[in-house]
Amino acid sequence: MAAAPPTCSICDNPLPTGGPELKHRPFCSSRCKLVDLSRWLGEEYRVAGPIVGDGAEFDPEAAEALEGFDLLAALNEEDLS
Ligand SMILES: [Zn+2]
Repeated sequence: MAAAPPTCSICDNPLPTGGPELKHRPFCSSRCKLVDLSRWLGEEYRVAGPIVGDGAEFDPEAAEALEGFDLLAALNEEDLS
């Protein structure tokens, strides 16, 4: 069985074998390159965020609300002491 030709990791189309599109390798086009980049950025954003439970979907809005609540609680505690 012959080795499969290299394909775009985003859309699975065969990679161009020549011409100006070669510069987008390992993607078939600038569009797929951007899709991959946005996936990386999304992953980084998730990793940088707070860990909520295990495997739970991270909700930035909920985390923000929780942070605001903690801040208010801390301020109230300072008022009482
Ligand atoms: Zn592609």
